[in-house]
Amino acid sequence: MSLRNVLVVVLGGAAVLVVADKLRQGGVTGAAGMVDTLASDVVAGSLEHAPSGTDVDTRARLAQVALIRSSAGQTYLDSLFPGTDSLIRRWPDRGSRPFTVAMVGGGSPDYLPRHQALVRDAGASWDQEGLGFRFRFQADTTGVDVVVRWRTSFTATERAGQTDLLWDQLGHIRSAVITLAIRDPNGRLFTDQALGAVAVHELGHAVGLPHSADPGDVMYPSTRTATISRRDRATAMLLYQLTPGSLKGVDQ
Ligand SMILES: [Zn+2]
Repeated sequence: MSLRNVLVVVLGGAAVLVVADKLRQGGVTGAAGMVDTLASDVVAGSLEHAPSGTDVDTRARLAQVALIRSSAGQTYLDSLFPGTDSLIRRWPDRGSRPFTVAMVGGGSPDYLPRHQALVRDAGASWDQEGLGFRFRFQADTTGVDVVVRWRTSFTATERAGQTDLLWDQLGHIRSAVITLAIRDPNGRLFTDQALGAVAVHELGHAVGLPHSADPGDVMYPSTRTATISRRDRATAMLLYQLTPGSLKGVDQ
């Protein structure tokens, strides 16, 4: 089994726990409570031959942990520490270059072209935050940063969306694939409001955001809002101030 497969299995296992927990709390079903799962919704891929010896040194890593901890409450990057891989995962600095996004229509008999408009609106919501990154939609998937596609539902899980990320050993995200469901596992169509909320949430994962424990944030696992909160915004800003890489071992 390759490293990549191991990571997928491990993170997949974590996802099941997240979903099960939400089900026990009754936080699912209908347009009001969408469950998606990170760490799972984020499926790992580690590029094999990343250079060694270029990781952030221990002192810098401790400083990053201190920064994350000191802003906990205003941000939720500390959610990376318990139970996940403590990896600061984001795109490399890209200056003013936007994230390119291509949407692949179809994927379900229920797919409608207007579903693309919901994703464009979700991208615009992030753009309006002035976080230093923007999404630019294009038709061609070649070389694109983020691919968005649809499926009828996630039949085995209470999930409305999924983001598969590929990142390297330094925590640099290389690509993202977002899959959006049109129906819940019981066959009910999601409302446009719900689809839009999940799209905002998954684009958050695509830039590297983890889950928040606060239902007021768009990155709450059972997405209830399409509105990017002050905490979502502050967390994204903090993420792009940090050096990507593992904080494992200094995250206690
Ligand atoms: Zn999620």
